[in-house]
Amino acid sequence: MFFSDNNKHLKMDKKLKGQCAIVTGASSGIGQAIAIELALNGADVAINFHSNDEGAADTLQQVQNAGAKGILIKADVGREAEVLRMYEEVYKEFNTVDILISNAGIQKDNPITEMSLEDWQAVLDTNLTAGFLCAREAIKEFQKRSIPQNEKRSAGKIVFISSVHDIIPWGKRTNYTASKGGISMFMKSLALEVAAKKIRVNSISPGAIRTNINDESWKDPEEAKKMLDLIPYKRIGDPEDVAKAAAWLCSDDADYITGATLYIDGGMTLYPSFEEGA
Ligand code: NAD
Repeated sequence: MFFSDNNKHLKMDKKLKGQCAIVTGASSGIGQAIAIELALNGADVAINFHSNDEGAADTLQQVQNAGAKGILIKADVGREAEVLRMYEEVYKEFNTVDILISNAGIQKDNPITEMSLEDWQAVLDTNLTAGFLCAREAIKEFQKRSIPQNEKRSAGKIVFISSVHDIIPWGKRTNYTASKGGISMFMKSLALEVAAKKIRVNSISPGAIRTNINDESWKDPEEAKKMLDLIPYKRIGDPEDVAKAAAWLCSDDADYITGATLYIDGGMTLYPSFEEGA
């Protein structure tokens, strides 16, 4: 059969063809970009969202434009009953799931003495407990598959979207950093627990990425300059910088990678203040 160079290129790009992904918090920012990138790589996508109906509809349109199937699932992933319903809806539409991107996240910043238990709990629920709930259900499905140990493909993939603040402390954000630090050990322990079942579990820890979560920082020129001082590569990241890495991490090209954290941060974790030496 003859393939033109262009067709060959398209064929090679569809590394996730035939797979189904769930992306949580996919109505904006990094989650939206990942949903679209997975679709461009051939995966069908369940687009979870919480409150931004318009953003979710935009994601769905772009997933379909990429030639993939998409469904919208409104659910608060910090609540067990809603996560169980989300998976039921996914199975009704796609029968199974191959990829989980646990991305939903919030910040509720305050000095420790002013931080309410409610704000502490809300951040832990959305950023950490949601990862546990979604991963538990995904793994129940993944472990139904039996893949020979020496094959370079896995029974399922999970990627947690964590943060550089899983290792960089951050004042007035103790709830956020506790949640992201928690993801780090949860991810590694889970990766160890399910590796022999040929299930891969990894994290991506972004640095400063231009999204709604930090718009106060990059919209104000003074704040943006302060942010750039923390980035040796001297540019604020785009959601696509994270999305392309997530799609690769979910592909069989990354089959030997499990229990790893990929920092996508323009060097933010390289101790920028040491650039010039002591
Ligand atoms: P964002 O605010 O655009 O996206 C967060 C998404 O999570 C939103 O779509 C929101 O609706 C959704 N969400 C919130 N609570 C939810 C819930 N209970 N159930 C379902 N969905 C819910 O911001 P973003 O920057 O795209 O954030 C995505 C992830 O990336 C977060 O986990 C965030 O902590 C992480 N992150 C972002 C940056 C950055 O610089 N933007 C850096 C490091 C880590």
